[in-house]
Amino acid sequence: VEKQYVEDLQVFELIEKEKDRQMNGIELIASENFVSPAVMKAQGSVLTNKYAEGYPGRRYYGGCEFVDQIEQLAIDRVKELFGAEFANVQPHSGSSANLAVYRAFLQPGDKVLGMDLSQGGHLTHGSPVNFSGQSYDMYSYGVDENEYLDYEALEATAHEVKPKMIIAGASAYSREIDFERIGKIAKEVGAIYFVDMAHIAGLVATGYHQNPVPYADVVTTTTHKTLRGPRGGVILAKKEHAKKINSAVFPGTQGGPLEHVIAAKAVAFNEALQPAFKTYIGQILKNVKAMVEVFNQGPLRVISSGSDNHLFMLDVTPVGITGKEAQERLEAVGITVNKNSIPNDQKSFVQTSGIRIGTAAITTRGVKEDEAALIAELITSCLQTTDEAELQTIREKVRRIVENKPLFAV
Ligand code: PLP
Repeated sequence: VEKQYVEDLQVFELIEKEKDRQMNGIELIASENFVSPAVMKAQGSVLTNKYAEGYPGRRYYGGCEFVDQIEQLAIDRVKELFGAEFANVQPHSGSSANLAVYRAFLQPGDKVLGMDLSQGGHLTHGSPVNFSGQSYDMYSYGVDENEYLDYEALEATAHEVKPKMIIAGASAYSREIDFERIGKIAKEVGAIYFVDMAHIAGLVATGYHQNPVPYADVVTTTTHKTLRGPRGGVILAKKEHAKKINSAVFPGTQGGPLEHVIAAKAVAFNEALQPAFKTYIGQILKNVKAMVEVFNQGPLRVISSGSDNHLFMLDVTPVGITGKEAQERLEAVGITVNKNSIPNDQKSFVQTSGIRIGTAAITTRGVKEDEAALIAELITSCLQTTDEAELQTIREKVRRIVENKPLFAV
């Protein structure tokens, strides 16, 4: 039989190399995680072959009997997970979910108030290089002198600007967000209240963070961070907004849904509904606390002196380097982080003064508090030396931590 395909060594050898990289390093990027074999299997399934424009029971293509049931399972499970009245599981990513929310609730040029990117917000919350900043009249809030979200400034700006929509949620903020309080402010000024809980969704699902769903008109999340599903997005809302949100996703901003990803989302939501997932999220938080305790001994500075969630930010300037240099030096010993601006950063987005560290991924590999503390010590040492022999010792210690730990261990 003639081969129907060409064995693509170029691509598959690179995939193997990426697998080795993931296996052999310590992954501290706060927005990343390792999915379960079941999530991986659903995503790599024959569902990738299927077109299914529309929604379960209302498709523009034939042959949707089984994908309808899969998508409905994903919808029902995520509604249960967060106590939501309505869910759309089709957004291809967090940014696509946010785009659809803007399109569902606003007209171009409307005023929107969101957290500034440089203070911890996300690109889609109003950055001038993003559709949000380019299509809407964006205003921002940030953090106070203690590096906690400045609710009073947010309230004052909301009353002054009278935005059509207020966005809560962040990409680089380590403290609990009082969604109820921001909801009250939105009500006072008659704004639509939109919460983007992308980073903390796993914490919300397990009760380790206040759930925004009861307070917000609309909530988005990614599915691949603390929620530990495939890369993708979800929109949750009150039932009254269902129609306009569905239309804004399809046909407003997307075509055919990725049913293989939706199946993987359904699997991940079911995993998140199990008691073991709560234990997992609890361990993420313990690991953050163990690391922060080490860093608080100096010389690196923990932003806001601590963390209530799965991540924290470190100011690396006390040891005379930039965030970019810190990221590169850590990568050279097998520790992956991302450079990040810190509040009121004096350096550019390219250089930055800080790095962001999250423990969701290492916790999936089975790291507990003692090793989390050791990792913090290795980072502290690494950022204070350029001596190749010392760096080699750190590299070997990194290797020892991750050896015999599969990517998905818990
Ligand atoms: N919203 C927040 C708060 C995020 O942190 C992110 C991802 O970093 C997104 C949205 C966007 O997600 P995606 O990268 O899937 O578009």
